[in-house]
Amino acid sequence: MAVSTVRRTRFAPSPTGRLHLGHAFAALTAERQADPGKFLLRIENIDAERCKPEFEDAIYRDLDWLGLQWTAPVLRQSDRIPAYQNALQRLAPYSYPCRCKRGDIRAALSAPQEGALPAGPDGLIYPGTCRHRRVNETGPDDVIRLDVARAFDAISDQSLEFQDECLGGGTPFRIDKAQFLKRIGDIILSRRGMGTSYHLSVVIDDAAQGISVVTRGSDLFESTWIHVLLQRLLSLPTPIYHHHRLIRDNSGTRLAKRDNARSLMALRENGVTPEEIRTRLGFS
Ligand code: GLU
Repeated sequence: MAVSTVRRTRFAPSPTGRLHLGHAFAALTAERQADPGKFLLRIENIDAERCKPEFEDAIYRDLDWLGLQWTAPVLRQSDRIPAYQNALQRLAPYSYPCRCKRGDIRAALSAPQEGALPAGPDGLIYPGTCRHRRVNETGPDDVIRLDVARAFDAISDQSLEFQDECLGGGTPFRIDKAQFLKRIGDIILSRRGMGTSYHLSVVIDDAAQGISVVTRGSDLFESTWIHVLLQRLLSLPTPIYHHHRLIRDNSGTRLAKRDNARSLMALRENGVTPEEIRTRLGFS
């Protein structure tokens, strides 16, 4: 399905801590890549245990201070559970409940394997222990997983592709079923107690917000394959992707939310101006 030619982007932070320079870079990139008035904001707060209202308030304040203006309304994922449930139902033919804990997965993978265990964007590659189970047997402690082999069999072409404006020099990226199974595996569509997952929510909401260009850090590149597969299964358009570089500290380590000293709030309190931040990140 074709996407519109309007460049509509979003910044999609999770309110699990204070925003730092890496977020400022992501937000400024999304704004710069959007057509005028087409930069949106989404609060990714499906994890009720980790997300806090005070961090959400701080997101609005920090973005305001940076001089960013987003077009209303802000989409809050906690308001969207019915939409995710609906998508989960549509994915039921390619889904199964899974009761494996991390230790079970580790044990199952260790048996045939020596050395480092295979890992993908969501951690260890699931060995398929519960794949024989059916969605109508789902128990309260189960997660729901996507049966990737069955999902690939349901779509007409045997490989997926997406365009990246930043990487790849104009050649689309492509992945086939065997590569997907090896590098990513049966991902979780719905986590315990959440009724959704990062991957499912992002796909549903990018479509609901009409996002035509997804700007995000290159650390999420492999996750994008999951999103393209879900778009195909749900007949949603695949946006253009723009995986950008990550902002690192002087030692080359990625910035983290727990690193409060580099938060935008701390920089602001130390007298750093929004103009200085833009300059430092290459946006002036
Ligand atoms: N919420 C995600 C994050 O904080 C980004 C969303 C996305 O680009 O998919 O890293």
